[in-house]
Amino acid sequence: DEEEMTYQSVIDQVSVEYRNEVIRGAESVLKKDLVFDMEYTIKKRNDGLTRWVKSTGKHYKTEAEPYGHFSGTILDITEEKEDNIRKDDFIGMVSHELKTPLTSLKGFIQLLQLRTKTIDDLLTKNILDKADKQITKMTRMINGFLNVSRLESGKIHIEKELFDISVLISEIEDDTILNADGHTVIFNPVETAWVNADKDKIGQVINNFISNAIKYSPMGTVVRISCVSDQQGSVISVSDEGMGIEPSDIPHLFERYYRVEKHNTKSIAGFGIGLYLCAEIMKRHNGKIWVESEIKKGSTFHFSLPAVQPPF
Ligand code: ADP
Repeated sequence: DEEEMTYQSVIDQVSVEYRNEVIRGAESVLKKDLVFDMEYTIKKRNDGLTRWVKSTGKHYKTEAEPYGHFSGTILDITEEKEDNIRKDDFIGMVSHELKTPLTSLKGFIQLLQLRTKTIDDLLTKNILDKADKQITKMTRMINGFLNVSRLESGKIHIEKELFDISVLISEIEDDTILNADGHTVIFNPVETAWVNADKDKIGQVINNFISNAIKYSPMGTVVRISCVSDQQGSVISVSDEGMGIEPSDIPHLFERYYRVEKHNTKSIAGFGIGLYLCAEIMKRHNGKIWVESEIKKGSTFHFSLPAVQPPF
């Protein structure tokens, strides 16, 4: 505590892989008056152990000090980081292991579905359809987990292509109408609009919005999907008449593992990774993602993609 440190000795403690970023961050705080807010690892001088820290601060200028001063805090977040890393490793491993048996299970169900086509047994057919739907749901969940662990290790791939967003939305419409038991799902008419994006991943974002809208609103209410495009780009929105979200929760919704802790959401299954993945996908597309919500009235989730010239 008593020892004076030079700027250089502070910088030298920062792990090599983060050092340049920290230097750049510190410089822009001085030059551009920005707030310093970064997470990185340091190797402590006294015990040589590596710790995760969250460091925040600001440059203050006063008349008495010609160069001003820098003031802030450094928080040790090692436990929290290590917890998340362990969680990610575990989730990645388990979901990878679950994939193979699930794929075989789906194959067996499809075989049985084929066999029941020729016989007159409605009950068995219905049960097999239900089993198939549950497996599809589970596969989607597991793919979500795998995506999180890929994202964390920087292995998520975005394969951009030019496509018409109205075509994607009508493909999703066909799937959704089949699976939306209990809700009225309305797709507003969509005009042709071209974007340069990863079609599968954008589909994933829209499906996520829709399944949340269904999950967090009572049966019998309306879920509406719309897409409005202009020269700048397209805004896709999914609105529901559900429970809504408190303003204090809104800034955290897109964080990993964040779930609103309310009595009435405890019974709804989820892991708090859907919206996090959506936000990461949008980040990689230079798109925006946001939500408007009113408690007990409903929520509207939006994302936008920049427009591109049609390919003809
Ligand atoms: P999950 O649904 O698996 O918990 P998400 O990341 O998709 O994870 O959503 C995070 C949280 O945001 C949810 O737990 C829920 O509390 C809230 N949320 C998401 N969509 C809605 C919605 N349409 N209406 C109300 N709350 C929502």
